[in-house]
Amino acid sequence: MRFFLLVLSACALQAESLHDRTLRYFIDLLRLNTSNPPGNETIAAKYIQAELKKEGIAAELLGGDPNRLNVVARLKGGSAYRPLLLMAHSDVVPAEPKLWTVPAFDAMRKDGFIYGRGAVDTKSLLAAEMAIVVELKHRNARLNRDIILLSEADEEAGSTGIQWLIRNAWSKIDAEFCLNEGGGRMKTEDGAEIFNIQTSEKVPTRVILVARGSAGHGSLPRKDNAVAHLSDAISKLTRAYMPVQLNTTTRRYFRELAKLDEYKWLQPLLARLDNATTQFETANTIGDRDPELDAQLRTTVSPTMLRAGMKVNVIPNQAEAQLDVRRLPGETKEEVYERFRKIVNDPAIEVLPEPGQDMPATEPSSLTTDLYKAIEKVALGHNPQASIIPTMSRGATDGAFLRAKGMAVYGVPAFLRDDKPGRAHGNDERIRVTTLREGTDILLKVIEAIALTN
Ligand SMILES: [Zn+2]
Repeated sequence: MRFFLLVLSACALQAESLHDRTLRYFIDLLRLNTSNPPGNETIAAKYIQAELKKEGIAAELLGGDPNRLNVVARLKGGSAYRPLLLMAHSDVVPAEPKLWTVPAFDAMRKDGFIYGRGAVDTKSLLAAEMAIVVELKHRNARLNRDIILLSEADEEAGSTGIQWLIRNAWSKIDAEFCLNEGGGRMKTEDGAEIFNIQTSEKVPTRVILVARGSAGHGSLPRKDNAVAHLSDAISKLTRAYMPVQLNTTTRRYFRELAKLDEYKWLQPLLARLDNATTQFETANTIGDRDPELDAQLRTTVSPTMLRAGMKVNVIPNQAEAQLDVRRLPGETKEEVYERFRKIVNDPAIEVLPEPGQDMPATEPSSLTTDLYKAIEKVALGHNPQASIIPTMSRGATDGAFLRAKGMAVYGVPAFLRDDKPGRAHGNDERIRVTTLREGTDILLKVIEAIALTN
């Protein structure tokens, strides 16, 4: 018995490694169901606060809704530089249990993977950031700046968490730089490694088309049939080649991508893409070949919802479509609506903004800051052959709200994408245990490179 106790206390004395701690936080966070809606992020917030408290790190729970609190904690460093913000959201999108082969909130381990909603988006990042903050505290690291940890609520739906913090607690999260979700690492088929640093985002700009015509009996076709006008309008918008715009990020993106074997075909097109007189036509060639690249060049339109009619023999007097439009950050909403009206060119159709969430459109974060350079350096240290490619993501994150406040925000390329296509928001979301470890190491190196006093 005494021997047993001795062994136990020896184990307790042995500090938990960074990898073990990350894994423990990760599994615990996956098991807290923070599906949004309704979110209930406070269960995660309290967990994070309690874990940090054990390590002597004070964390504040903040927010406008007691069920949906954010967590902010700060490691004090020198005042020579402005703080570094480590951000990750604690909510996840809902999981449909019937479509999963494993439980979505059990953090089940199978074949080297851990499964669970949020494994990729983005409890892996949240766990790694927490564990690194604790690691730096244990090591008594000499920091040249404060490091702020932010676990935010409601990223997946209304972004109410980050907006509340910006309005009510800005000084607690204000920083020179932010490391956020949205970046990633990939391996191409021939084994080349790509580090995607997310510096920019397209802006969700939902549009409603409303067609109006005369109602009547289906036996008598009418020229002003609202359904027919609506389908014409949708067809015109989805077939139109939208104008092309490059920004600092997408320009570099195409240049770096063209160096990869898989994208060598881009090389002869690069100069033409940069030339105003040949740009549009060149973009059409690129876009027709690869829709992913098309989305980097222009505002895109996907019709996703339709509403019309209630009986097959009754012509309705109104038909409606919803379009998922992803706008280039360099365009205004008004420019998009105006262009759509011109393309549709039909007085029977109204082009309307969908009411609701309005995400800010911002310039890309700079490719020359110390943090961007630190990420580049760590990436090349990890793999001297790596391609480092800044990206504008098609999807939106809460990083856009911080960029709008003037903060440089980078989606950090820590975790390798284990599955193609990725499983974020998909079924059987999962991450390899080795990916979690390696990503945590990369993240730690980036944070050390920007925040350690040397
Ligand atoms: Zn996310």
